[in-house]
Order: sequence, then structure tokens, then C-alpha cells
Amino acid sequence: MQKFLIKLSIFFLTFHIAFKCFSENLNLREKEINACSVEEVITWNDGVDKKTNIPNLTFVYVPGNEPSAFSSQEVTDMVKRAVNAWSTCGISTQVSVRADPNYSSNNEVMIIWNDAKSMGNIGASDTVHQRLYLSPSVFKLLKERRPTYDSRYTLQMTLSHEIGHFYGLVAHSKRCVDVLSYYKDASGAECTVGSKEEFKRYIEYRSEFPTACDLQRCRRNNQ
Ligand SMILES: [Zn+2]
Repeated sequence: MQKFLIKLSIFFLTFHIAFKCFSENLNLREKEINACSVEEVITWNDGVDKKTNIPNLTFVYVPGNEPSAFSSQEVTDMVKRAVNAWSTCGISTQVSVRADPNYSSNNEVMIIWNDAKSMGNIGASDTVHQRLYLSPSVFKLLKERRPTYDSRYTLQMTLSHEIGHFYGLVAHSKRCVDVLSYYKDASGAECTVGSKEEFKRYIEYRSEFPTACDLQRCRRNNQ
């Protein structure tokens, strides 16, 4: 009986430790998204951040040319969600929709699906001409390669990332979870993360919205 009780308590102890590790990992990414200490705000030094220079900034979504996985309304809603998530940075921003990409005013950033202008990237920002490009073919490829993966996550992340560039976050973040991050540079150097194992579990570890560090950097640049 005593032996049985010892075995039983070992079983429960093992179960308890395994569950604790699992739940800690489950929360690690969430914790990284929601918390940021000053020393964590580090970039790849691939650009110099600056204050956004567009007063009354408006993102104008140009419907049409979306990959079949997304409707115009869905993408418009994602733009609004990204802008809303950045709002605590304190830059007043509007979102509107216009079918004609050739007409725009000084305060407008046009969001356009265009493969040539995206230059092989899933998204690209032309801050000089105030154009945010998305690539239909890269999203199509993602759908072909990972048919069960919900690519809306990647589109939301891409929009939040590119919009961040228009808020003056020119450099990319070195913290893997930040929406402004990239994972590896040309020399093979890797982004920083609390657990490499946890990082590998995700198709996209990056947050779909700005993290506490992205927002801290945005506020600092735009003070
Ligand atoms: Zn970028």
C-alpha cells in the first residue's frame, strides 16, 4: 500500500511539473507581448527611427486585387484593427477606403495590393511616396504551402508591421515577438526570445499587433 502511495504521489508530482512547464510556455509569448523593460527595446540597427512627419495621417485602403482568401471588407477591418492597436502611441490616425489609387492627398498613405511594388516581400512600405504595398502572390503561395494555416494572422501582422514604419519605426526590432521584428539577418544572427523551443512551435511567433516594446519605441520617437 505504501509503495502504491509513493508511486501515486510520484505520478502526480510528474504530472504537476509537466503541466507547470506547459502552462509557463503557453504564457511565455503572451508575457513577452504584454511586458517590456527599457533594455529590451533593441533593434537590428538597420535604420534610424524618427518622428512621424505626416500630420492628420490617414491610411486609405484601395480594394481590389486581394487574394481570394480575403474580402475587401475583411482587409479594411484589419487595417482598422492595426491602427487601433497602435493608438496608444498617441498619433491621431484615420482609416478610409477609395477605389482609385492614383488620387491621394499629402496626409494619405495608400494601401495597395501589388506584386511588382512588393518586390518579393509579403509587404513593403514606401515612406517617401506614402504607399504601403501587399503582395497577392506571396499570400497565394503561403496558402498553397500551408493550406490549413489561417493566413489572416499573417496579413494582420503584416499590416501592423508596415503601419509601424509610417509611425517612424524605421529600424527593425531584435525581439522576435515584436511586430516590427525580423528573425535572422544575412550573417545568420538571430532575434532574441525567452525560449528557442517555444519559438519553434509557432509558424509565426511575431505578434499580430504591436507589443509593449513596439509601443514604447513608438511613443519615445514621437514625443
Ligand atoms: Zn519592415
